[in-house]
Amino acid sequence: MARLHPSLVNREFWYKDITLVPNRLPDFERDEVDLSTHFTRDIRLKTPFVSSPMDTVTGAEMAILMALFGGIGVLHFNYQTVEEQITEVEKVKRFEAGFVFKPVILSPEHTIMDVHRVNDKYGFFSVPITEDGTLKSRLVGIVTRRDIRYREDMATPLKKVMTPRARLVVARKEDTVDRNDLEHANKIIRKHNLDTLPIVDRHDRVVALVTDSDLKKNEMYPLATKNENKQLRVFVAVESRLALARKRIGPAREAGADGIVVDAGIAFREQIEIARYCRKNFPGLQVVLGNVDSAEMVKTIIKEAGDCCDALRVGVGPGRACITQQHLGTGRAQGAAVLDCALAARELEPEYGLIPIIADGGIRVLDAPDEAVYRKLSTLTVKSEVFKPGDISKALALGAQTVMMGSVLAGLDESPGEREFDDEENRMVKKYRGMGSLEAMEKRSAVRYAMDKTKIRVPEGRVIKVPYRGSGYVFLPELIAGVKQSLQKQAFRTIEQLQREADIRPI
Ligand code: IMP
Repeated sequence: MARLHPSLVNREFWYKDITLVPNRLPDFERDEVDLSTHFTRDIRLKTPFVSSPMDTVTGAEMAILMALFGGIGVLHFNYQTVEEQITEVEKVKRFEAGFVFKPVILSPEHTIMDVHRVNDKYGFFSVPITEDGTLKSRLVGIVTRRDIRYREDMATPLKKVMTPRARLVVARKEDTVDRNDLEHANKIIRKHNLDTLPIVDRHDRVVALVTDSDLKKNEMYPLATKNENKQLRVFVAVESRLALARKRIGPAREAGADGIVVDAGIAFREQIEIARYCRKNFPGLQVVLGNVDSAEMVKTIIKEAGDCCDALRVGVGPGRACITQQHLGTGRAQGAAVLDCALAARELEPEYGLIPIIADGGIRVLDAPDEAVYRKLSTLTVKSEVFKPGDISKALALGAQTVMMGSVLAGLDESPGEREFDDEENRMVKKYRGMGSLEAMEKRSAVRYAMDKTKIRVPEGRVIKVPYRGSGYVFLPELIAGVKQSLQKQAFRTIEQLQREADIRPI
């Protein structure tokens, strides 16, 4: 455990109230710092960042961004339908893969328009064509972007534009999928300069695809959070009511979700039942429970849920769009909450195993005076001189394995919703809304605050604007570098070392 100044014991403190004191001479470079960590019992990340399940933060685009840079996204459940959430899981899973199992298939009678529809939904053009448009019949051709690039006649059937089976290079299931040999597929793609390689069984039925762009993406993002099949990992949020959560969990698992976050402002007891249900019916699915904010709550959950709980989300009221503390007078200062919960989880570790702590909410990479500077610069993209990743290292030093962020990410291009120019503030902004705001609760999120069964809704969140921050593909590498730099200043090479040896003092 880190060295904690005695005046911080039994005190409420926020990240801004503490500092990490460097005591040693670093003898290595910033980029040698390794930020890998546990997100859940079984899933490790190379970057300790998690995006919040909020409807102005995490859809598929954000989840893809997070996973490419070594973090992970949790898809919110405030969609209109369960299917919409599942479509987002599929988009993440199809974004980058080794073998793409269950690829989208069309028939020779489908049209060019149908291929465009596939692209609108999933973001790719390569589609194998089988006799009846399902995986059960024989492969008869393939359509790729090259085949339809200059065609404007959307009604043309695919049999007229596809590359027919006789001219296709394919790989056999026995040589690739059965041996999990992606390299073999890779060699064929390079040798024949292919966009897409179908993998077929003895009956010439498609069992999987491998695409050139996937192979390139694999090389471009070395930190990416992937499963064994090289698909990006993603979690989904589900309600803390078993009857509702059950409707999502099966389909989410089927679509490839790696785990669930049972979402609630404060963990309800029913979460434990949901965790047990998951372990029994979907043993490989990781389960995150929460939110909690005290040692007592951590101990209750860990003891009751036992090995059905794979991580805990900590934070009641620190969120940027949250009004729980001001209006209801309840919640905690996030620094103290993370510390207490992490200590409690550590105490139980010998008996229950490691339960990683996710420090959720309260991370500010731009504080109030900085935002004024930011506005003066009137810039459209992130300016590194006004950005401070220190809160993240403080959360990690206090014992969290990862941090979950909402407002930090809501201003990026990859969050749902459009940027707009705000006349009053004279800058570009994006909307960020608390899931406990009356506006968000008009959809499904009332259940997050246990107000789905009541008529009178007391808001626990507000709708605000955050500065537009441009592309996450620029911002996340900066944030990662910033956290590494903070560790390097203290001469720590890893998060584990930071947690063991940090010198935490009040400001
Ligand atoms: P932020 O990173 O400080 O913006 O906090 C994000 C976190 O705030 C989320 O992960 C949720 O735990 C929490 N949160 C989201 N919406 C609300 C709300 O309406 N009221 C209270 N907390 C919220």
